[in-house]
Amino acid sequence: MHDGMSILKTFTNETEAQFALNHITALGVSALLQMDNCGDMRPHLDISRGVDLLVADEDLEKAKSALEAPVTDLSAEPWTCPSCGETIEAGFDVCWKCGKEK
Ligand SMILES: [Zn+2]
Repeated sequence: MHDGMSILKTFTNETEAQFALNHITALGVSALLQMDNCGDMRPHLDISRGVDLLVADEDLEKAKSALEAPVTDLSAEPWTCPSCGETIEAGFDVCWKCGKEK
């Protein structure tokens, strides 16, 4: 265990763990990943190990709220294509039907 750091969350998927790490370190949180080598205990699983996300104690609350916050912007509203009138989901900048830009 690292001094002054706590496990914020344990992931079974290294990609997810890396994503979370990038997300919170981008906010200035001191964090790192630590592999948990317990593969021998679970030979029947493809996932052979867990990944602990360690966060500096002083950044723990900040990191927690960052992970709980939605990654995508849910405040965005769907929009209506000015060309064909189709309703387009927020997050798309181009009409899927006619290709017109927002
Ligand atoms: Zn359109």
